[in-house]
Amino acid sequence: MSDDVIGTSLVDENLSELRRSVAGVVLGPADNAYDGARRCFNALIDRRPAVIVRCLRASDVATAFDFAGTHGLEVAVRGGGHNPAGHCVSDGGLVIDLSLMRHVDVDGDASIARSQGGATWLDFDSATQAVGLVTPGGVVGSTGVTGLAFSGGIGHLTSQLGLTCDSIVGVDLITPDGGMVRASEEDDAELLWGLRGGGGNFGVATRVEFGLYPLERVVGGRLTHAGRDGVAAALRRFRDINARAPRNLSCSVLLEVDESLVPTLLVAPCYTGSDEEPEDLLTLGGGPGLVQNGLRTHSVSLNSNTFSILHTARTVPIERVTSCVSFQTSLSMHCLKE
Ligand SMILES: Cc1cc2nc3c(=O)[nH]c(=O)nc-3n(C[C@H](O)[C@H](O)[C@H](O)COP(=O)(O)OP(=O)(O)OC[C@H]3O[C@@H](n4cnc5c(N)ncnc54)[C@H](O)[C@@H]3O)c2cc1C
Repeated sequence: MSDDVIGTSLVDENLSELRRSVAGVVLGPADNAYDGARRCFNALIDRRPAVIVRCLRASDVATAFDFAGTHGLEVAVRGGGHNPAGHCVSDGGLVIDLSLMRHVDVDGDASIARSQGGATWLDFDSATQAVGLVTPGGVVGSTGVTGLAFSGGIGHLTSQLGLTCDSIVGVDLITPDGGMVRASEEDDAELLWGLRGGGGNFGVATRVEFGLYPLERVVGGRLTHAGRDGVAAALRRFRDINARAPRNLSCSVLLEVDESLVPTLLVAPCYTGSDEEPEDLLTLGGGPGLVQNGLRTHSVSLNSNTFSILHTARTVPIERVTSCVSFQTSLSMHCLKE
């Protein structure tokens, strides 16, 4: 950290210089919006960056990198702010915050969506489902599209369409030296390969292009099982059905335990086949201990947000998030067929 950084605060002159250089918003510790902007989804993370740059355009990202280099600041990148370890914020560093860059542009004829680096899944799904198209994404609407896609990405359509990163077809990237590069099969196939799962280690993506797939209808929702016997029986059904299920049925589970150690199991199937009432779904939805059956048919092409209801079904108020481990446990139990 250089001499013009005092503790975690840059001197006012430096912040003013940065404010003049970017189209977006620059927040320092003295600004009213600073405390809200440094929070992440995991409320246990309490870090105080020296400066947060809410970028509006790609050149703001390059300017932020340049500023961080000049002042010796560690850089953190914020998309949706959902990384459980709090990678989107660092003590005394500079945050490149993409939350103002959330536009999603859909080319239905080419089956391509171009998503700005800070778009969330709710932004993305709302745009693509308006024309009856989808990309396999995450199960919570406020998760960042790019952060999730760069680390693989599993969700309700994984069994049918693969990992989210498999659908990335192009990326516009700002590298730490401020350069703008493009990764695609035509432009830089090796970089594209690295970005599909390599996390944010190559630079900041200002735009990511995804392939889209038609989807008219899903049958899915949440099944809640309570009590030890009911949960044990439901887990066995989940195991058996997933062992034989066709590719058009994805299914995930989340096991929760309350203070008295009584378990609750949430099973979330997503069926995209043509049968009205497939037997596997009826089996998943039965049995002892079932306390809530939220299975429904969602007409994706008729209502752009219907399928997003399924995506947001697991949104948890920030106050209730007390453990990152429980989230990762639920994710690792997603069923990957191949
Ligand atoms: C409630 C919740 C639900 C989740 N659900 C799922 C799920 O269904 N499926 C799943 O696979 N994962 C899921 N995750 C995990 C999630 O995908 C990862 O934590 C992911 O990193 C979050 O991305 P973000 O942009 O929201 O997070 P952030 O904390 O903002 O970013 C995390 C990291 O991603 C990288 N990154 C983000 N945006 C960019 C960008 N534009 N350019 C370059 N790098 C970038 C950076 O390295 C950044 O530090 C979930 C997490 C939570 C907390």
